Amino acid sequence: MTLKNVICPGCGACCDDIQIDLGMDGLIVKNACKIGNAKFQQVVSDKRIRKPLIREGGMLRETQWNDALQKAARILVDAKRPLIFMGSDIVCEAMEVGLQLGEFLGGVVDSNTSVSDGPATMGIQEAGRVGATAGQSKIKSDLVVYWGANPLESMPRHMSRYAIYPRGHWTRRGWLDRTIITIDPRRSITSENSDFHIQLNAGTDCELMSALLTLLHGKQPHPSAEKITGISICQMKEMLDIMKGCNFGVIYLGSGVSSSCGMHRNAELAFNLVKELNSFTKFVIGSLRSYCNTGGFTHIASSLYGYPFGLDFARGYPRYNPGEFTTVNLLRERDVDAALLVSSNLDAHLPAACAEYLAEIPMICIDAIPCPMTMLSNVVLPGVIDAVECEGTLYRLDDMSIYSNSIIGSPFEFTESNEHTIKQLFEKAKDIMK
Ligand code: SF4
Repeated sequence: MTLKNVICPGCGACCDDIQIDLGMDGLIVKNACKIGNAKFQQVVSDKRIRKPLIREGGMLRETQWNDALQKAARILVDAKRPLIFMGSDIVCEAMEVGLQLGEFLGGVVDSNTSVSDGPATMGIQEAGRVGATAGQSKIKSDLVVYWGANPLESMPRHMSRYAIYPRGHWTRRGWLDRTIITIDPRRSITSENSDFHIQLNAGTDCELMSALLTLLHGKQPHPSAEKITGISICQMKEMLDIMKGCNFGVIYLGSGVSSSCGMHRNAELAFNLVKELNSFTKFVIGSLRSYCNTGGFTHIASSLYGYPFGLDFARGYPRYNPGEFTTVNLLRERDVDAALLVSSNLDAHLPAACAEYLAEIPMICIDAIPCPMTMLSNVVLPGVIDAVECEGTLYRLDDMSIYSNSIIGSPFEFTESNEHTIKQLFEKAKDIMK
């Protein structure tokens, strides 16, 4: 069986030209990068979690679906303040049910946004954003600035599908007519393939953006800006001239900007810089989301409850305070007493102290592939690979919603999707609380 134009849930690019051949030779994926290929190969992986597991006597053992659900629901109901963490590999429909479950339990619901591009989301709230769809940027841009991003490793097909190689309105010869600037303290494969590499000192994005804004206003930055950023005023002026002189420029913000000193203030300054550049030419900005559906949670939570991530329902209504109700802070302060992690791969994002605390509290994991979090869990529910084994909505890096059909059904009799699993858990929790 051959399936064409399949959407890849490997990262925020949501490439929609993947071909899947399913046959005796296994699953052959065409057009995808190695990240996408690895994602699809999970379907046939022999490491797949196929049976529900519960911890007894310190060991995880296989059990019946209903028993695992019952135990998971009991953990959530008995907790005073459970944390529900929605990973970025799940579809919006599952995120919506997770939010409703969190509201019902009076817990906290958070997502990958808070440990990845949350600061960029907060920057948008502060400054607004001049954005464009990936298609508009592809057709019109003749200048691309990667700021704190390394797309050749984190989103390998971004350049070929959306940014550098496609031919466009002012770029009839594709990449030959485009200018690429990479702003990154590190040398990376992306910086080596750029026309200019602005190698600023680590953690000085805020100072560089402030200096660029000052120059844009026709004033001279303080001389200390050179020493702090490691970039001369001359270089800054040269970069600004290129930016002002293009027909259509795009800045792609990577997690390097959000995670360096200044956090959401960096993103806010970047959005302001782009607003000011629009006095000279057309300029837009977007986040380079290397996680698949982080944008999905932001949109669903904002439209249902008004806040993009880190929602606390302890008082019966949603409260939002990044730094207090976000996962890392809650775990560091030991402020939750149980956790439900859905396709989270959370261990990759947590400081050691937070991971240690997670190991102390009752934990439920819904995951397709074993990871350190499933090994520490009290209950493991087999995960369905969303947007591959079930249909659902994903948000692309440019905040466009993309509906993905399933290419193969759920491999389980007891659940059709992660959304279905969370719904069943919700029903069990309601039954216990009757
Ligand atoms: S760039 Fe992202 S969406 Fe495209 S094939 Fe690779 S992992 Fe999948």
